[in-house]
Amino acid sequence: MARQLPEFRLQLHPVTQDARKVLGFRWADPHVGNRHKLGGTPDFQQATTVPACPSCGGEMSFYAQLDSVGDTLVLADCGLVYVFVCFDCHESTAFIQSG
Ligand SMILES: [Zn+2]
Repeated sequence: MARQLPEFRLQLHPVTQDARKVLGFRWADPHVGNRHKLGGTPDFQQATTVPACPSCGGEMSFYAQLDSVGDTLVLADCGLVYVFVCFDCHESTAFIQSG
């Protein structure tokens, strides 16, 4: 059984003027760009199976999802990148789903 992390919401705090310029969407739903989190359960955009660890074959733990940032820094049509880890083998994998 994969280890489950407690959920943390993550917020972006742009550090530079360049970062402030690329933050936000003109036409996307207001939640797009604010779906970053660590732990909890993934908010998959499409039906997906949890990846298996390439070393031990066990179910990997959901670690984080990172959202698209803005109109000029977007993942696959307002998508997210999902990160999974195996705490035993120190393996990780990530994939993108479009929104
Ligand atoms: Zn493993």
